[in-house]
Amino acid sequence: MVQSVCTSLDDSVQEPESIYASAEAHLLKATASELEALRQEDGCDIKYSTPTFPRACLALMYSIPGNDKCVDCGCPDPSWASISYGTLLCLNCSGRHRGLGVKLSKVRSIYMDDWSHESIMCMLEGGNGQLAKFFGRHQLLESSDSDSDGSTFDASKSRTRKKLSELTCMRYKTKAALFYRDNLRDHVARLMAAGPYQGRQISRSPKTRVTHRIQSPK
Ligand SMILES: [Zn+2]
Repeated sequence: MVQSVCTSLDDSVQEPESIYASAEAHLLKATASELEALRQEDGCDIKYSTPTFPRACLALMYSIPGNDKCVDCGCPDPSWASISYGTLLCLNCSGRHRGLGVKLSKVRSIYMDDWSHESIMCMLEGGNGQLAKFFGRHQLLESSDSDSDGSTFDASKSRTRKKLSELTCMRYKTKAALFYRDNLRDHVARLMAAGPYQGRQISRSPKTRVTHRIQSPK
């Protein structure tokens, strides 16, 4: 009943909640459209990638919890990415990830590198908060680096940004990190085969058990 009333009104008198939901749905629709444009190019056997991160995809990615700061050091406004984990990094930490090698972490610049459909999907299905929670469950996150619920990670609170802890530097070499990388890759492949992108909420439905495993490993 409430919904039918809202849809009959002008945008100017919509309830705040419905305006928010409408904006979110619009962003998701625009994101799916941008991704499908890349998929169509892929279908022509052209290894297509876009020279700039698509605008709606970019907005959606930065809205993911934890993506407002570097996943390793907590530096604000990260503009580098590790596709392997779908996480955002600052410039300094991106250099450290390059040092790990592409098998452990594939690094891209959000604004200076080309982006493929698959790589963007990794970023939309990853997220700094999600990885921080995962590392927390595997004792790969210092207690001082997380809030009480383990949902955030800010290493800058406990030490200088230049000197990350040994744990932060080594955790990407663990079996847990390998598990996460493999499952994110497989999850994205399943989603890409399933059709147009429908957002994280849909992708985490019981039918997509791969991401469920990422969120709830043994
Ligand atoms: Zn950093």
